[in-house]
Amino acid sequence: MMMSIPKLEFPPFHLPAEAEALRGEVRAFLKETLPNIQSEDRFASWNTPSPEFSRALGAKGWLGITWPKQYGGAERSFLDRLVVTEELLGNSAPAGSHWVADRQSGPLLLKFGTEQQRQAILPRIVRGECYFSIGMSEPDSGSDLASVRTRAEPVPGGFRVNGTKVWTSGAHRNHYCITLVRTSGQHGDRHKGLSQLLVDLKTPGVTIRPIINLAGRHDWNEVTFSDAFIPEDCLIGNEGDGWLQVTSELAFERSGPERFMQNVYVLRELVRVLGRQPSKRANAILGRLIARLWTLRQMSTAVAGMMQGGKSPAIEASLVKDLGTIYQQDLPEIARTLAESDATTEDDLADFLDVAQYASMMAPSYTIQGGTTQVLRGIVARGLGLR
Ligand SMILES: Cc1cc2nc3c(=O)[nH]c(=O)nc-3n(C[C@H](O)[C@H](O)[C@H](O)COP(=O)(O)OP(=O)(O)OC[C@H]3O[C@@H](n4cnc5c(N)ncnc54)[C@H](O)[C@@H]3O)c2cc1C
Repeated sequence: MMMSIPKLEFPPFHLPAEAEALRGEVRAFLKETLPNIQSEDRFASWNTPSPEFSRALGAKGWLGITWPKQYGGAERSFLDRLVVTEELLGNSAPAGSHWVADRQSGPLLLKFGTEQQRQAILPRIVRGECYFSIGMSEPDSGSDLASVRTRAEPVPGGFRVNGTKVWTSGAHRNHYCITLVRTSGQHGDRHKGLSQLLVDLKTPGVTIRPIINLAGRHDWNEVTFSDAFIPEDCLIGNEGDGWLQVTSELAFERSGPERFMQNVYVLRELVRVLGRQPSKRANAILGRLIARLWTLRQMSTAVAGMMQGGKSPAIEASLVKDLGTIYQQDLPEIARTLAESDATTEDDLADFLDVAQYASMMAPSYTIQGGTTQVLRGIVARGLGLR
């Protein structure tokens, strides 16, 4: 018997005129601001920090752009936010300081945080002054987050926390880490008994150690908790609701254009080194790369349109991430081979090979960050009724 698979649709969606007008403003701002910003990377992206840049963006009103005005937000649409995100990525802006806070920690606090937490934190995120890390993964708990072992034992006035988080991006420079912990029950209780804590990373008993990645960068950390006292007003939402909250947080993490625009600088540099009159063959290869990028962009815009219309396109968003990962992992090698045969000058080629090498070393992480490819395919299969 033939199994019928539900049809997935990505209805074409055009950004409204206000969003496109905002794009012009963001471009003009970046053109003026970026040359004056010190950045540790030439090809910066959402994991390259610059507090100076984040504050400048905050001053324009483009952080927490969708949030209520009472917390400093601009109450603009998610499509406006999409445009700002596309321009930051497309122009390699060093957006790493505020990225997680703006994308997921702020929205999480808005949805589940106490009024006191919202008032204390959200306006600081909006000003580009307060940065967040994600404290989910542990040495034995990555894809299978429900198995976290970090334990927060209720004590008078708060919790005593013990355990280890790993791959905690930016913990060495950020202010807070939203940390998934077990507040009751046992390791085997899975989704029950988990909670999220707003952890000030300067808390005594919290130790941050660097983990250096393949490209020699210090983005990751191991964060250990040894009898760290976390006050009770740092509990986010209800005790025991951590699983529900963390899955809602992951939805913010998975659906953005950063899942296919993280190394768009490779394409931009490739176009530059191929010069004004690339060969026919180079044009054909470039055309294929750009067509793939544009298709992903259309799919991602369709997902944004569905979200704006009140739907929850989790399967479609997972597919964009999966296809975006494949594209971003193909790009550096295709680009390197083409530059080697077609770069216009030796200087340009040497320069480009540095770019391609860096991009190749970062590429393995795309399969893993924000949910591994295999796990996302499992989600898609379940959503389609195939498992
Ligand atoms: C660049 C980067 C930044 C990161 N930043 C953070 C951060 O800030 N905070 C944080 O908490 N974490 C962060 N992580 C960690 C990331 O979320 C985890 O690495 C990821 O969830 C996978 O977990 P794991 O490494 O334990 O691998 P595992 O879960 O052990 O997976 C190992 C392999 O088994 C496969 N697998 C596992 N389960 C299944 C299944 N059910 N079906 C099929 N295959 C399966 C996986 O696909 C993978 O190939 C980051 C990772 C990267 C690469």
